[in-house]
Amino acid sequence: MFDYLLNEETLEFRDEVRDFVKSIPRQMILDMDSENIQFPKEFLKGAAEKNLIGCRYPKKWGGRDMNWVSSTVGIEEIGVLGYIFACTFGVGGELVCDAIIRHGTDAQKEKYVRPLLKGELFAAECLTEPRGGSDFFGTTTVAEERGDYFYITGQKRFIVGGQGADYFLVYARTDPDAEPHKGISCFIVDRTDGVDTPYVYGLMGCRGGGTSRLVFKDVKVPKENLLGNKNGGFEIFKSMMIPERLGTAAMTIGAARPALEIATGYTTRRKAFGQPINQFQGVNFQVAEAAMLLDACRSMIYVTAEAVDRNIDERRIRRMISESKKFVTESCQKVVHNAMQVMGGIGYTNVFPIERIFRDLRLASIWTGTSEIMSLIIANEWYKEYWSMKKNHPTRDSEPDAPGAFETDEKIYE
Ligand SMILES: Cc1cc2nc3c(=O)[nH]c(=O)nc-3n(C[C@H](O)[C@H](O)[C@H](O)COP(=O)(O)OP(=O)(O)OC[C@H]3O[C@@H](n4cnc5c(N)ncnc54)[C@H](O)[C@@H]3O)c2cc1C
Repeated sequence: MFDYLLNEETLEFRDEVRDFVKSIPRQMILDMDSENIQFPKEFLKGAAEKNLIGCRYPKKWGGRDMNWVSSTVGIEEIGVLGYIFACTFGVGGELVCDAIIRHGTDAQKEKYVRPLLKGELFAAECLTEPRGGSDFFGTTTVAEERGDYFYITGQKRFIVGGQGADYFLVYARTDPDAEPHKGISCFIVDRTDGVDTPYVYGLMGCRGGGTSRLVFKDVKVPKENLLGNKNGGFEIFKSMMIPERLGTAAMTIGAARPALEIATGYTTRRKAFGQPINQFQGVNFQVAEAAMLLDACRSMIYVTAEAVDRNIDERRIRRMISESKKFVTESCQKVVHNAMQVMGGIGYTNVFPIERIFRDLRLASIWTGTSEIMSLIIANEWYKEYWSMKKNHPTRDSEPDAPGAFETDEKIYE
């Protein structure tokens, strides 16, 4: 749809990803959904062999020196295979590696990023705890410093790749007395004896990603595995929210797209009352709405990715990312809803993949920050932006442009 906005390099990359996506056997998709596959290592190795993971990182570490727009375009294509393919592709390559590339030492990049981009290692990201995910700063996992090591104790839950990952990016409290956002650090934790996976979740959708609860029992982590500074976890968390939420939005579009395509084809062939059902406005308006929403979603994430590429104001990026995450995930759920609706009963069966896409996409507005948390950030940033704009760059004051504008007795605020 927006090819004219993309440069040659990005278009070529997109086509490479498309070819890879076309090469994945349908059985792998079915095996993921039925959990015959617990974690898709073969798929990730295949993507890595084609150098598709982490395209925006420097070539020096195994990336392609590309931009955010390109990685956004790429992850949309991966989403076409199913949401969990993009989740597992994204968590290790696009999130954990992003944090290490931005905040890590060269030794950490050598040991953890390069092999992951080659498909030799797999990683998971551990933020959420049983006591809550939205309140990230309330983390109760602790890392105690003793000699040359930190010892991590606590639990994380809903971790994609909890089964399957070789190492984990773990946030833990390192200063219990500091303000919440000043007392958390981030660690790279190898899967060792103290890391236990006692529970694998039974999920409505997004199956096959090894989503588990992890228990860390006094896990010994060498100091060189501290990522960034001690008590500097907040900085890492902030920067990770860009790939986390922008990536989620992009892959959601890719995951919803097949539903619209299948429904479009179906409605041109299926007949009722003697004519193809796409002749009924009750049907084609729903298809039109879905197409419009997908285009709006894609416009939003491209503009946001471009804002990140141009490194514009951090606060504005935070608002744009949160708006994209909320708008795209909710709109794509509507896209899939419409697709199922226009297919009638057969859309609800597993004869078509729409029911799987529907189940998968319910997660989109819950994970990587719920829609409510996105609204909270948007509101916070918008009010600040509003007052700053009023003070520094006032535009026309439209409030007096009403006949009753000076009826001060009617303008009651308290
Ligand atoms: C399949 C799956 C995979 C996941 N993968 C990962 C992963 O790999 N790594 C990881 O770290 N996490 C992962 N998560 C966790 C996910 O990010 C959290 O579930 C999510 O952030 C919400 O946290 P919670 O479940 O603890 O809900 P809670 O934080 O308990 O929230 C419950 C409800 O309260 C609302 N709420 C909470 N606070 C507020 C507020 N201040 N204002 C308004 N409403 C509020 C929420 O919006 C939500 O509706 C995954 C979750 C699932 C289900």
